[in-house]
Amino acid sequence: MNAHTPSRPLPVAVLDNLIEGRATPSAGGGRRTVVSAYDGRTVCDLPAGDPRDVDAAVASALAAFEDGRWSRRPPSWRKACLLRWADAVQQHAAELDLLDAADMGKPVSVGAYSARSAADLIRFNAEAIDKVFGETLPSADLSLVLQRWTPRGVVAAITPWNFPVFNVALKVAPALAAGNTVVLKPSELSPRSAQTLAALALDAGVPPGVFNVVQGDGEVVGQALSRHPDVAMTAFTGSTEVGRLVLTSAAQSNLRPVVAECGGKSPHVVVDDGVDLAAVAARIAGALVTNQGQICSVGSRLIVQASAAERLVDEILVHFEALVPGDPCDPGTTFGPLCSATQRDRVAAFIDGARESGARVIEGGPPTPGGAFVRPVIVFPRSTADVIWREEVFGPVLSVMTFDDIDEAIGLANSTAYGLLAYVWSKDLVTGMRLADGIRSSVVLNAAPPAGEGPGHGFSSEPVAASGLGVEGGVEGLKSYLRRQTVWINY
Ligand code: NAD
Repeated sequence: MNAHTPSRPLPVAVLDNLIEGRATPSAGGGRRTVVSAYDGRTVCDLPAGDPRDVDAAVASALAAFEDGRWSRRPPSWRKACLLRWADAVQQHAAELDLLDAADMGKPVSVGAYSARSAADLIRFNAEAIDKVFGETLPSADLSLVLQRWTPRGVVAAITPWNFPVFNVALKVAPALAAGNTVVLKPSELSPRSAQTLAALALDAGVPPGVFNVVQGDGEVVGQALSRHPDVAMTAFTGSTEVGRLVLTSAAQSNLRPVVAECGGKSPHVVVDDGVDLAAVAARIAGALVTNQGQICSVGSRLIVQASAAERLVDEILVHFEALVPGDPCDPGTTFGPLCSATQRDRVAAFIDGARESGARVIEGGPPTPGGAFVRPVIVFPRSTADVIWREEVFGPVLSVMTFDDIDEAIGLANSTAYGLLAYVWSKDLVTGMRLADGIRSSVVLNAAPPAGEGPGHGFSSEPVAASGLGVEGGVEGLKSYLRRQTVWINY
């Protein structure tokens, strides 16, 4: 077995909430701990926040918004602050990645969606602040009708554990760039890097009260934030199940706008038309094992032309063999544990369920150290009705079905409730575009890039159906955090 030995453990971190720029214990005094997915050690002791903490953080963020210490500063001033924050994140990138590795198992060797890419993302939003222009509308004589972009107010940011630093930056950077103030509730399974990010923002000159953090459970802190009447917008990333709750809370409280980036079941569609199958196998396998498959847009379904199926699957299995499972904090490790024992049991239940339903299951890659590890798996469901084909597994599991003609491939690609991203592999642009026309999600043709590649951070995405709603990323994503205000002047 080519597993790596554990490196020296980080000390247990003791956190408080961060409200008005100060470490603030939970009003209820409750505490909880986080254990390492790798070896079960306690890594963090954090507040079990309660609704009073949410009230205090929202009051701080609302006062900061209303007195204009951030929202009414010139864009160039906010831009300078955020650029300093980006530089600080870059300088502390190794430390931030290490916190995430210890908390939730993403190997420090994985460059995709790392702290360095979060720094780039913050820079993109900082640079975009003064490039979002309003409009002057054609109007009647002696009138001037303007539409301008104004900040919304207090933004509640609720983030998942899968790429903790990157997902926090994806919400907080555009929210702050737009002039809002923020209350962040990071995942209770990966709480540490969020606190470091907020402290770095303070040091960079973001005023106290502008970026607050409340730690705690989703059902308590997340729910209180999603219902708080003084929150003007919710920016959520997480499961479809919780996304529905957050949308319901918005509807039942103050009808605020919600950006909800939820689950996915992205397909790779591979056409046997001379496409380089070895290269395609490398990209499919590489993406599936990045962060152990815990990526919302991971290609977790393979829809391959029947004539190429066997060759492609064999090639993918060969790539799994090169993995180095081990301690995610060790730079030599390429494959870590799943985020938690609960997540491992959830993924294992999907695989067992597929086996019981009669699907063929092949386990790949080297043996793993036990604990929360799950080896990469390829499953051959019997039909599109199988749970393993339809539901998000969020682990290193690839479900394979074959097609004979393009219409069948489109039908298979659209055969789940999700619609986040699809990957099409074809030598022929006409075939590729026919697939892009038929598939309802966004489509990447002949690539499976991590964030920052291709269009860089200019990429905006809008999910469909069970994958959520609203635009995230790029300049259009920045506009999600702004309100269009009309000013109609008669003179
Ligand atoms: P999750 O839905 O369990 O939790 C997400 C966040 O919501 C956490 O901070 C959690 O504490 C909070 N939460 C839980 N219950 C809540 C409630 N009742 N009210 C308000 N907040 C609540 O998701 P997870 O397990 O942390 O992350 C994995 C999921 O995230 C996967 O489904 C994945 O596809 C999705 N995800 C989506 C994207 C995307 O861009 N579409 C990106 C990353 C992850």
